[in-house]
Amino acid sequence: MLERLQELEKEALGALEAVEDEAGLQAWKVKYLGRSAALAEITSGLSELPKEERPAVGKRANQVKVALEAAYDYRAEALHTESLARALQEQRLDVTLPGRPMVRGRIHPANQTLRKILAIWAEMGFQVYRSRDVESDEYNFQLLNFPPYHPARDMQDTFFTTEPDVLLRTHTSPGQIRVMRERAPEPIRVVLPGMCYRYEQITARSEIQFNQVEGLAVGKRITFADLKGTLNAFARRMFGQDVGTRFRASYFPFTEPSAEMDIECFVCGGEGCTVCKYTGWLEILGCGMVHPVVLQNGGYDPAQYTGFAFGMGPERIAMLKYGIDDIRYFWANDLRFLEQF
Ligand SMILES: [Zn+2]
Repeated sequence: MLERLQELEKEALGALEAVEDEAGLQAWKVKYLGRSAALAEITSGLSELPKEERPAVGKRANQVKVALEAAYDYRAEALHTESLARALQEQRLDVTLPGRPMVRGRIHPANQTLRKILAIWAEMGFQVYRSRDVESDEYNFQLLNFPPYHPARDMQDTFFTTEPDVLLRTHTSPGQIRVMRERAPEPIRVVLPGMCYRYEQITARSEIQFNQVEGLAVGKRITFADLKGTLNAFARRMFGQDVGTRFRASYFPFTEPSAEMDIECFVCGGEGCTVCKYTGWLEILGCGMVHPVVLQNGGYDPAQYTGFAFGMGPERIAMLKYGIDDIRYFWANDLRFLEQF
């Protein structure tokens, strides 16, 4: 019987060596360690053996069982490692495949234009000065030379609040008074970007809110020639080196003299088209020399100091540049529009 156990162990271990996969391993386990395996039969048949043989056979049978179980665990572990290694080899992750694209947001077209404008002015040494959206009548109108009941107020339909004399700014110009009062008598070169609000009928050409970028330079011996040279330099950087410009006399209460600056139509090159309404010119900004009353209100002596100011609308410039025919698109939050920029 001991010889039989010896043979059984040898046979089982040999068979285990030949096992190559998980299924073979399970079959081996049933055959050699299962309920009806030869080893189990020997163990359950111990009582039929002569009494003196039983301890030795029982002990040996147990040794064989422990040895086979250990060999099984070892082989199972080895097979598992092998199959893992094979899987890694066969189903290798290709890290060179392009990943899933991320959905990226983008800068709003009005802000893109605003940033471009600010970058150009920054290169020319103008600092960005931000001021409040909610203003007093004094800063929005009176200190800018719009006295109460002045007809120029009619040009800017205003959102008044229930608080007397508190309103939403109709232009970024009140920031001019704020920066002058903060810096006087130092020279100033700033741009004032921000949202402005007007109580207007919303149409393809007018909105109740829009961005403005205003500029202000104050110092000694600043002339209209400085204004023209600086604005021409801006136009060339914004619209191209060859762009032509022209100045037309205009009126604003806070500048004297005042002008509108036009640039040559970049769509038709001055030939005349629907964008420029067959004039060959596009109006892009208003400007002028700072009115002496405004300089005084800002804390500068107009006998010693002069300055120029200008203002433009980034949405209007974006409309001209991209051929957008309706200003309402800017704040309608329609992704089909916004995704085009
Ligand atoms: Zn044109």
